[in-house]
Amino acid sequence: MTVRKTPATGALLGLALGDALGFPTEFHDVPSILAKSGPWREMELPTPAYVTDDTQMTLALGRGLRAAMDRGTLAPRRLERPVREQFVDWYRSPDNNRAPGRTCLVACDLLRKEDRAWQDASRIHSKGCGANMRVAPVGLAPGLSDEQRSGAAQLQAALTHGHPTALAASDLTAHAVRLLAQGAEPTGLVGLLRSYAYDNRTRYHHTWLGDLWTRSQDPTPEHFIARGWDDCLAILRRLQDAVRTPSPETDPCLATGEGWIAEEALATALLCFLLFPDEPLTALRRAACTAGDSDSLACLAGAFAGAHLGADAWPARWADRIEYRGELLALGALWDA
Ligand SMILES: [Mg+2]
Repeated sequence: MTVRKTPATGALLGLALGDALGFPTEFHDVPSILAKSGPWREMELPTPAYVTDDTQMTLALGRGLRAAMDRGTLAPRRLERPVREQFVDWYRSPDNNRAPGRTCLVACDLLRKEDRAWQDASRIHSKGCGANMRVAPVGLAPGLSDEQRSGAAQLQAALTHGHPTALAASDLTAHAVRLLAQGAEPTGLVGLLRSYAYDNRTRYHHTWLGDLWTRSQDPTPEHFIARGWDDCLAILRRLQDAVRTPSPETDPCLATGEGWIAEEALATALLCFLLFPDEPLTALRRAACTAGDSDSLACLAGAFAGAHLGADAWPARWADRIEYRGELLALGALWDA
């Protein structure tokens, strides 16, 4: 494996570009997208290039994670406070008008009360993709141990989405970004993710998650978290089949789901990336032209492609006009240095 030059910048720009490209196509099926936009391989970035809650919450997490790491070794309490503050700031922001997910709104409203344990704000039955669509910064921040990265990915998810599949899918999404940033080859990626899921299947992060699992009906913490990894392992098997028999002109959602839920968002975004590992714009356009959660799928596909290829993946004519460009570049430069 070779370390790439600018994976953080590439991933952050890529996720925002995908998010903006998929913003107008969310809630539309493929025939109506084609009728409106023409051939999907020629889809253009909208003008202005507005992002959605996916990028806004990614930046909120990025700010919180950065603040936590500035204060010392990353640990649960040190991460919780600034990320929680950032999520609540996002909730209150007048710019939070980009079709945000309901779970995030409900949980962030509850997180506002500072003496409430976050576990009491977490939506234990929600495995919407809102937790992993924003997790890329955890895979990009340098200097974290495997335990810190896994714990941080799951904790940031659980602040809003407490379902074990939201936790496992966020952990896997951050791990995928990390592997690609470190130079892992796309051809081996699904196998590496499956091994990671098997290895972590019954590992409950007590120090990071506290008593979250007791809000579920599960008899033990291991039973709780294994449900999440098993959902992910099932979809990774479907992903591996889809990658073996590629069908680039077919809506990828038919193979691995529409991506409204966490494990499907991971798998379908990965499928779009793996169909076109060296054609990042095509991967983004494929993800945006789907029947599913287009902005979140293209957001994650952009994070994977950018982590793999670096900032050069994205043409200046797109990158120069993406919303939040300045903050995305600043955070990327910090973490690529
Ligand atoms: Mg969105």
